[in-house]
Amino acid sequence: MKARLFDFFSCLAIAACLLIWSGCDVDSATEYLGPMGPASMSAPNDTGHADSTTDWTSTSVPSASIEQTAVAPVDGALTVYFFDVGQGDATLLAGPNWTIVIDAGRHNRSDVVPHLQSAGVESIDLLIGTHPHADHIGQFPQILETFPVREVWMCGESHSSRTFERALDAILSSGAAYHEPRAGESYRMGSALIEVLHPVELTGNLNESSICVRVTFGQVSVVLTGDAEAASERAMIQRGHNLSAQILRLGHHGSETSSTREFLEAVRPEVAIYSAGEGNSYGHPHDVVLQRLARMGIPVLGTDRHGTIHVQTDGTTYQVTSERGSWMASAPDQPVLVR
Ligand SMILES: [Zn+2]
Ligand SMILES: [Zn+2]
Repeated sequence: MKARLFDFFSCLAIAACLLIWSGCDVDSATEYLGPMGPASMSAPNDTGHADSTTDWTSTSVPSASIEQTAVAPVDGALTVYFFDVGQGDATLLAGPNWTIVIDAGRHNRSDVVPHLQSAGVESIDLLIGTHPHADHIGQFPQILETFPVREVWMCGESHSSRTFERALDAILSSGAAYHEPRAGESYRMGSALIEVLHPVELTGNLNESSICVRVTFGQVSVVLTGDAEAASERAMIQRGHNLSAQILRLGHHGSETSSTREFLEAVRPEVAIYSAGEGNSYGHPHDVVLQRLARMGIPVLGTDRHGTIHVQTDGTTYQVTSERGSWMASAPDQPVLVR
């Protein structure tokens, strides 16, 4: 999908900052305004052209002011669900009145919609397909047919698979807005800050083009990197992004292609979480990654062993619980693991 599908544009020059919802390109990251957000809308930020009724706002703030934003009081709580969807990925970030879904499970299963429904999801503000592999966008059609979806992000890579074609058809039919985010963009959803860490450009390597994000809610951050591998991890470090996060969703299902020591040192997670299918044929997660985490003293939970994993935070502390019992409670920088 090279063309922008449902592009829209905010008219910047009009004094009243009226938003015009029509077909214009959204190529400029720093001038991008998403569609109208839900009821609780926050004030504009430093882009200078946001509408006060928009809570889903692009920013291009320098890292210092990102840090400042990150410790601001938060509205409500954030729960992150790392769903057990077998050998695939599906993550829900549920705020007090907003919802982000990152990846949509495998093409040959139909478990993501039930997971979302049992988590209470009724609509989705942002649906991200990190990259076009069938274990990440597999259930896009079911999701887009079941829930109103405000906006979809894809990395922009193409794939010849039927799964990819079906996902594109579903996006087109849904009427959702569409965007291909690039590193350096940042957005606000309620009290959460969403920083795009990757990619800068497409390379044709689907895993390495994965959309990677850091989501910060108060003082608690989560980094999710799709199936990004070592080269992408290196690039994120070299670009100087603030990668620090208490929670790291391990790249590529805990594969040895990802979670390099350097990247783990840059993120400094207090807990690592991976999504993989029990007994999967890829050997995910790889022992080398588990051993690296163990040497660094980073506890790890996986959907194959623990089932669906939840991280709940009020912006100051967080708790990690899982379907099969393990849990962890912490204050920032003072994790306490309880098994
Ligand atoms: Zn994958
Ligand atoms: Zn992949």
